[in-house]
Amino acid sequence: MISIPSVWDANLAPRDHHVVHAYSLEPFQGWQRDDHYAAKKQARAQPLYQALAKVIPDLGERVVLELIGTPLTHAHYLRRHQGTYGPAIAAEQGLFPHCHTAIANLYRVGDSTLPGIGVPAAAASGILCANTLKN
Ligand SMILES: Cc1cc2nc3c(=O)[nH]c(=O)nc-3n(C[C@H](O)[C@H](O)[C@H](O)COP(=O)(O)OP(=O)(O)OC[C@H]3O[C@@H](n4cnc5c(N)ncnc54)[C@H](O)[C@@H]3O)c2cc1C
Repeated sequence: MISIPSVWDANLAPRDHHVVHAYSLEPFQGWQRDDHYAAKKQARAQPLYQALAKVIPDLGERVVLELIGTPLTHAHYLRRHQGTYGPAIAAEQGLFPHCHTAIANLYRVGDSTLPGIGVPAAAASGILCANTLKN
């Protein structure tokens, strides 16, 4: 997956620069912050760089800041269970929970609730919740 969000919003990168976001699926198992962590991050990033080079051939000469995240990064900074991109509920197991909770006036939104994972869905969960409050 490759996205360049600064194409749509120039404020997301310094002037005359872009931010490129590339990611793949990576198992949580086997990742630990040990002496090999930095080297493993570099190694696991190489397929992403190879994919990026197909659309930006001279990428290696143009990178001014590189940030490599891992499942441990997501787990640490986002408090994601095992660093996942978002919770998964199989279709046959039902829907994500709605915004209501058992506690009066306490609501929940975000990608752990209906309609599910992703920025648009997380935003939609807030809209659904707000509409519930209006009623
Ligand atoms: C690498 C990656 C790529 C992705 N790519 C895409 C994509 O291309 N398109 C897309 O639509 N979605 C993508 N997603 C999914 C998307 O980012 C999430 O579904 C969405 O951001 C979820 O929004 P949220 O507000 O529910 O949770 P989050 O964005 O996770 O926000 C929760 C916030 O709460 C904070 N927090 C947690 N616990 C506490 C606490 N106890 N106290 C205070 N703060 C706390 C966290 O630090 C975090 O800032 C991607 C996710 C990842 C990790």
